[in-house]
Amino acid sequence: MKFNTKTIHGGQENIDPAYNSVMPPIYQTTTFKQSTPHGHKGFEYSRSGNPTRNALEKSMASLENGAYGIAFGSGLAAIDAVLKLLKSGDEVISTSDLYGGSYRLFTQIFQNFGIKFHFVGMENAADIEKHINGNTKLIWVETPTNPMMNIIDIEAVSRISKKHQLLLAVDNTFATPYLQQPLDLGADIIMHSATKYLGGHSDVVMGSLVVNDEALAKRLYFIQNASGAVPGPQDCFLVLRGIKTLHVRMQRHCENGKDVAHALKSNPNVDKVYWPGFEDHPNHEIAKKQMKDYGGMVSFSTKAGTLESAVKVVENLKVFTLGESLGGVESLAGHPASMTHASIPKEDREKTGIVDSLIRLSVGIEDVDDLLEDLNQALTS
Ligand SMILES: *Cc1c(COP(=O)(O)O)cnc(C)c1O
Repeated sequence: MKFNTKTIHGGQENIDPAYNSVMPPIYQTTTFKQSTPHGHKGFEYSRSGNPTRNALEKSMASLENGAYGIAFGSGLAAIDAVLKLLKSGDEVISTSDLYGGSYRLFTQIFQNFGIKFHFVGMENAADIEKHINGNTKLIWVETPTNPMMNIIDIEAVSRISKKHQLLLAVDNTFATPYLQQPLDLGADIIMHSATKYLGGHSDVVMGSLVVNDEALAKRLYFIQNASGAVPGPQDCFLVLRGIKTLHVRMQRHCENGKDVAHALKSNPNVDKVYWPGFEDHPNHEIAKKQMKDYGGMVSFSTKAGTLESAVKVVENLKVFTLGESLGGVESLAGHPASMTHASIPKEDREKTGIVDSLIRLSVGIEDVDDLLEDLNQALTS
């Protein structure tokens, strides 16, 4: 089955044995009647499993060419579950230019439990090896990175993780399985904030993991049930509905993203534009190799270079909404230094390029002319 068919049908065989409904029913129930203390029809309690969630988990697995999907109440709850595979004394090597919430979870929660994190710029995959020792268990990769749009070569990192028998997890939120499929490139775990492109309509907070290895899946299902950060059936239904149009939405996100990136590049009030589709982007060749297209995320800094100039631009936007998050049908603009990445100390932030004048755009699927006009007026005023 091709990807554009999988978004609609992947993992959805026989989802409603009772009436053959095309969409799975929303099983808004906590528990299921059993015939005997050990006899049930596959579901007994909705933290452990729910048919609507199960339909979504199968769809998520199918999209990533994986065997097992595991849904969580948020993207961070999914990351939390991966880290619970580890124990005190273990070490993690993570991308340095990381989603702010992931960084906060690593450094302010799991570090307190004795897990050590190394934050490494992974554009040169060989740099990872310097930090590997006998305690290293996990490599955490985010690509494209947020908000600097660096691209990490997943295949090159997976060669290192396999050589040292480590787990490789990839946060695939920005790219989505439409653009890149990390399991096929050697990753062990794919993580999503389904809140973003998978849901796609800015109405659900959810996370997911996809894996191929059965033993690893069993451990993660155990954590899902034991820690209990599961999504509700109604939300699972909404994300499943969102996934059905993922391929069409992504195609338009990519087209609009490309036009916006080029327009910004030629705007006299813009300094730098970060978008992996530019031939002079430092990791363009890797992006071209591992991604189908370049996505709808574009970051740029103002020519004026000050915090005030960036704040003024985002406040003047009319079609773009100033707000956290990304990946919905509507265009959003954010100011990483004071919003998504405010939890990262300024010093660390600037080391990775997140200067005060940086603006991050999630380019939506509106008419691109309206988006270009809006950016132009906001940058001129
Ligand atoms: C939003 C986001 C997360 C966290 O997901 P939530 O659903 O907000 O918990 C993690 N990684 C990336 C890249 C994100 O954009």
